[in-house]
Amino acid sequence: MRTAEQVGKLVDRWRSAGRRIGFVPTMGALHKGHLSLVSLALREADRVVVSIFVNPTQFGSGEDLGSYPGAFNEDLAKLEKAGVHCVFSPSVDEVFPDGFSTSVNVSGLTETLCGKYRLEHFNGVATVCAILFSIVKPDIAVFGRKDAQQLAVIRRMVDDLRFSIDILAGEIIRECDGLAMSSRNSYLNSSERKQASVIYRGLSRATELVSEGERVAERIYDAVREVIGTAPLATIQYLELVDPVTMMPVEKLTTPALLAVAVYFGHTRLIDNVILNR
Ligand code: AMP
Repeated sequence: MRTAEQVGKLVDRWRSAGRRIGFVPTMGALHKGHLSLVSLALREADRVVVSIFVNPTQFGSGEDLGSYPGAFNEDLAKLEKAGVHCVFSPSVDEVFPDGFSTSVNVSGLTETLCGKYRLEHFNGVATVCAILFSIVKPDIAVFGRKDAQQLAVIRRMVDDLRFSIDILAGEIIRECDGLAMSSRNSYLNSSERKQASVIYRGLSRATELVSEGERVAERIYDAVREVIGTAPLATIQYLELVDPVTMMPVEKLTTPALLAVAVYFGHTRLIDNVILNR
C-alpha cells in the first residue's frame, strides 16, 4: 500500500474486528535481522504491518541516502513468504507533504554514541516513527537491539508522548562469523568484509573479561581496541559503555550496561553492541 489513507482504513477494519496489530518499521533491503523482527511481531500480534521507507530526514549531508541499497521486489516476496498482512511503502511526499514543519526532538539520550556524530539523525528517526505510529496505530511495534540507541529513543518518545504502543526488542541477528547483519554490509569489499568480523570478536572479548571479573570501563576499552586494532582496515569512531536506558556514560560496571561501538571500514560505518554484566 502506498497511502496513509489505505493503511488507516485497513487497520481500522482489523481493530473493529478485535485484532491486535503489530508494526515493524524498516528501510528495506531486508535481511534475516529484519525478518526476525517480523517473526516476533507475527507471534505477538494477529495482523502485522511492515513499512519500507528510506527516510531522508535521518540521513545527514554526506551520508549514504543516494546510494542506500534497495531491493523492493525481493523485499515484497520475503514479506509475503513470512506471512505479513500489509506492506506500507509510502512516497516521501506521502510522509512529509508540502508544508510539513514538525520535528520530534528527544533530548539527552540522543547526545551520546551515534548522536554525537550524526547530529540530526535521531530527530529524523523519532519524527518518522511518530508519523508512522499515528498512521498505523499499532498495539505493538518491534525494533532491533542492533540499533540500541534508536530503541532507547523510541521507548522514551513513546512514554513521553503517551503513544499506547508496547515496544518490543528483537535480538541482534549475526552472520556466521559474528558480523551483525546490516543492509550496509553490502557496501563492504571482500577484504573489508573479511576483517569486519573483528567487531564482534572485540565485543566478545569484553564479555569474556567481564565474566572474569573486570568492571572498569577504561580497561574494557583497551582490550576491545586491541582486538579491533588487529584489522588494518578498521577505524573506530566511538567505543563507549553506557547505561542502556539513559545512554549516559558508565565508568564502572555495577549494573548491566551497553557497550556500543561504531567502526569505519573505508566509507562504510558499522555499528554493533553487547550488554555487559547482564
Ligand atoms: P533498518 O532497515 O536498518 O532501518 O532497520 C529496521 C529495523 O531492523 C530496526 O529496528 C533495526 O534495529 C532492525 N535490525 C537491523 N539489523 C538487525 C539485525 N542484524 N538484527 C536484528 N535487528 C536488526
